[in-house]
Amino acid sequence: MTAAPGPDAGEFEARPVGPGESAGEEPEDTTSPALMPGDADAEASIRPRSLDEFVGQVRVREQLELVLSGAKLRGTPPDHVLLAGPPGLGKTSLAMIIAAELGAAIRLTSGPALERAGDLAAILSNLVEGDVLFIDEIHRIARPAEEMLYLAMEDFRVDVMVGKGPGATSIPLEVAPFTLVGATTRSGQLTSPLRDRFGFTAHMEFYSPGELTRVITRSATILGIDLRPDGASEIARRSRGTPRIANRLLRRVRDYAQVRADGAITVDIAHAALAVYDVDELGLDRLDRSVLGALCRSFGGGPVGLTTLAVAVGEEPSTVEEVCEPFLVRVGMLARTRQGRIATPAAWAHLGLDVGRDAATGVPVVEATLFEGLQPGG
Ligand code: ADP
Repeated sequence: MTAAPGPDAGEFEARPVGPGESAGEEPEDTTSPALMPGDADAEASIRPRSLDEFVGQVRVREQLELVLSGAKLRGTPPDHVLLAGPPGLGKTSLAMIIAAELGAAIRLTSGPALERAGDLAAILSNLVEGDVLFIDEIHRIARPAEEMLYLAMEDFRVDVMVGKGPGATSIPLEVAPFTLVGATTRSGQLTSPLRDRFGFTAHMEFYSPGELTRVITRSATILGIDLRPDGASEIARRSRGTPRIANRLLRRVRDYAQVRADGAITVDIAHAALAVYDVDELGLDRLDRSVLGALCRSFGGGPVGLTTLAVAVGEEPSTVEEVCEPFLVRVGMLARTRQGRIATPAAWAHLGLDVGRDAATGVPVVEATLFEGLQPGG
């Protein structure tokens, strides 16, 4: 079987961009970990192709190496693999690497594309023994397709319903033994029967600045960009721990370096370019800052419910929850409590505010009159 880690016509859906994550003006989206228009082409050439090229995620890599080597030794397909973590951390890349390491072909699809059981049956019936089936955003798979998947994962067969009403019959269909690689940004939303059928779950972590420096140094070599070490660390530091963002910022800073300077990316050029794209010292973008701003200024630091917070910044709750919050929690600026979201003292400090009041004027920041009589909550 030849490795064909490329999209199969009709089966691959570019990661759907959810409402609110949609392409806005480029400067605002420069630090979104979601796939943006233009990313797919740019990412294809710099995607790591083997576990050796895959930077960071040391634990996951070691665990996966064992799973894959064991399967190769036994000559059987490995257990099904679930990759969990925020967008842009390398889940699709890892799925392709799993297929490549196994010398298998990969079929790519996504949860939202599997609306009916028939959609999944069509894909499963075309699988060849040993194939890797990648389902991105697997938590969004429709219920009938999910139920069909249980049987396919466990027994390598599916029951296809033919006909309707009392005359309907189910025809069992053999499926070639395959390995499912599922990716999810919301592992908590996975039903337990589905979760239980994965033999191995990899929890992807955010990357350290040192790891991201290695990611973009490698990308710069492939793309022929003159990236100096100090410029690389500066971009890495502001990339929210996410390779996709690091690679995107690298491309934006390259534009700046070529248009306004001699093409070399030094720390000064990176500084100037990132200021143009509204990426602050910590890598927070406009949306992150408006979430924190709303939390502190409008709700006195919380606790406030996710929905209320999302409305306050004009975004979908899912965007705030999946795109902004994981990083804000990680840098210790936002905490999710049972009562709602709260801003930590680090968030107040980052916005230049004393906890509860504006540092410069000393005026309490909660716009009390606006919210009189309202309970903060979602
Ligand atoms: P996800 O599927 O989690 O959203 P992807 O696998 O599409 O993320 O990764 C986005 C981009 O980031 C890829 O094109 C790849 O170039 C880069 N990338 C991700 N993880 C790594 C890594 N560990 N090493 C090098 N590059 C990476």
